[in-house]
Amino acid sequence: QPPFDLNKVRADFPILQQQVNGHPLIWLDNAATTQKPRQVIDRISQFYETENSNIHRAAHELAARATDAYEGARKKVQGFLNAASVNEIVFVRGSTEAINLVAQSWGDQHLKAGDEIIVSHLEHHANIVPWQQLAAKKGLVLRVIPADDDGQVILEEYAKLLSPKTKLVSFTQVSNALGTVTPATKITAMAHAIGAKVLIDGAQAVSHKRVNVQELDCDWYVFSGHKVFGPTGIGVLYGKEALLNEMQPWQGGGNMIREVTFEHTTYQQAPARFEAGTGNIADAVGLGAAIDYVSAIGLELIDQYEHNLLHYATGLLKQVKGLRLIGTAADKAGVLSFVLEGFKTEEVGAWLNKQGIAVRSGHHCAQPILRRFGVESTVRPSLALYNTCADVDTLVQALQQIH
Ligand code: PMP
Repeated sequence: QPPFDLNKVRADFPILQQQVNGHPLIWLDNAATTQKPRQVIDRISQFYETENSNIHRAAHELAARATDAYEGARKKVQGFLNAASVNEIVFVRGSTEAINLVAQSWGDQHLKAGDEIIVSHLEHHANIVPWQQLAAKKGLVLRVIPADDDGQVILEEYAKLLSPKTKLVSFTQVSNALGTVTPATKITAMAHAIGAKVLIDGAQAVSHKRVNVQELDCDWYVFSGHKVFGPTGIGVLYGKEALLNEMQPWQGGGNMIREVTFEHTTYQQAPARFEAGTGNIADAVGLGAAIDYVSAIGLELIDQYEHNLLHYATGLLKQVKGLRLIGTAADKAGVLSFVLEGFKTEEVGAWLNKQGIAVRSGHHCAQPILRRFGVESTVRPSLALYNTCADVDTLVQALQQIH
């Protein structure tokens, strides 16, 4: 029995009300992106219909409305992450941009040849490639926390990697490929104990669990709006305020400056320091509405419901003949990943699509962890608060009938 009004939640998502290939749409590709409730869609329309203006720079009424809406959204993000200050919330395009920002600002500024960065074997390419690029440029060493056969990071191996050379540990809170929930507080504390900074990739975490950056005590936390029922093109970099203010600006331009002469420019404090140019104002406001939406239901209830649904789905999938589940950690969120004997993952995806079921089949931008399990690709159904046991039943039935 869902701990919230599931029918009402489903009714809030217009896209779920349609048929695809002659069947009711079953959206199980939430790890790639989530659908948007009417409340978010309406809020964005309302912005363009009644508030649209550039922010901060004008004396007129609409500029004040747009600025209030944008800064109001920042305040909602602060509450959502339990950040200590609203100045710790930088709007960016998404998780990818946030990680690149930290790499190219803090990383470029502070890291030198021989310094080490640790990531985990579970990372999305967005949390590998920016560090690799920085490593190539500056002569850094990238080290990897191995994963065990269940797809969980091995803390004893991690402990062995930590040394005075370690300057940064950057890891995911929830794996997008396997659903593993990593022991984030522990990993962070171990890094801090040797003086390294910590970045947590929260892209797959925020829609499933309550996040508290002060409790995690990470230095940076990143997520994407579109994975938490908000729009694409907007995301968040959280950083501890003092740290953000000592980081060099990343992009230069309007909004991020205090004073400009041809000889010299001085910069704003965070967050403006990192928000050069006109940002994605409307979608930030839309993200604020998405945060209101999940907060009204309650992240704890969402977590509890999805946990049960994941457990239910895991049990049924295990009974499908020839199905090998990859990622069997005790602590998981949202994601099921598998291969089916006798079928290519694309074939499984295409078969499910014929029946209106949307799943991802591919490498999920996390090739290293799939190769760890000897595969190049998996089928990945991923859950959100609007999915039901009936969705799972239909999926499993379709898998049983595949030919
Ligand atoms: N990290 C993880 C764990 C992800 O799942 C994703 C998106 N698949 C990203 C980073 C990148 O997010 P975005 O594409 O929204 O920048």
